[in-house]
Amino acid sequence: MADETPVIEIRNLHKAYGALEVIKGVDLVARKGEVISLIGSSGSGKSTILRCANLLEDSQQGDILFKGEPVRWKGEGLHRHPADPAQVLRIRTNLSMVFQQFNLWSHMTILENVMEAPVTVLGRDKAEAEKAARGYLDKVGIGDKCDVYPAQLSGGQQQRAAIARGLCMEPEALLFDEPTSALDPELEQEVVRVIKDLAAEGRTMMIVTHDMKMAHDVSDHVVFLHQGLIEEEGAPETLFGAPKSERLKQFLSSTM
Ligand code: ADP
Ligand code: MG
Repeated sequence: MADETPVIEIRNLHKAYGALEVIKGVDLVARKGEVISLIGSSGSGKSTILRCANLLEDSQQGDILFKGEPVRWKGEGLHRHPADPAQVLRIRTNLSMVFQQFNLWSHMTILENVMEAPVTVLGRDKAEAEKAARGYLDKVGIGDKCDVYPAQLSGGQQQRAAIARGLCMEPEALLFDEPTSALDPELEQEVVRVIKDLAAEGRTMMIVTHDMKMAHDVSDHVVFLHQGLIEEEGAPETLFGAPKSERLKQFLSSTM
């Protein structure tokens, strides 16, 4: 492999909310061009891991590395937090997050939504950002929706706009938290198609999903979480085709 340094590496991550330990020692690696899916029951810690990876949440123990660069911490235990705000900003702007509920700004047009962060966070030239934004909106198939407001779009279109917004930051990786869970089945597929295209062009992605078919089709590696620990992981064919742990077998039979 050309570049061996993972884009994201998590080592022995522990995370608690007060007395409740929800991540109990998780290791996770996403190399350049890899798609990692996180699956597991509700409450198993999938969202928490994504949020810790892009430093939306503090964590109590373990290392998080971005392109080999370890997050620097200060304090310990429940008081541990990143030491350097500039490092946090750099990492977070390089890991675009796409949420279940799209989180578009309702008072801005679709084009303004997509241009906003490149201009205000990265300091990009407005005309260039607009050009890029139009390009990404075309790419996700809603180039004709630039001037409308989010409420005028279907859920599937809103989610595709949110993906364009993530892409417009030109991040090193995309983090998806249940990107299709809020969508009606017929709209789900248009978002799955976009995610498949991104996988095919070699984007690095971590995807939390309930959609086992998508996880099977797009992932290089699938991680099954149970109560804050990795219960089983592997290539999608193996994990879905020949699950070993009883918990995974049960989980899969309940979802498929
Ligand atoms: P998943 O995404 O797999 O459904 P989460 O990562 O959202 O799971 O949650 C893992 C555990 O952490 C759950 O027990 C959940 O109730 C708890 N949790 C999540 N967010 C918070 C929070 N902000 N405060 C307290 N507990 C939380
Ligand atoms: Mg979740």
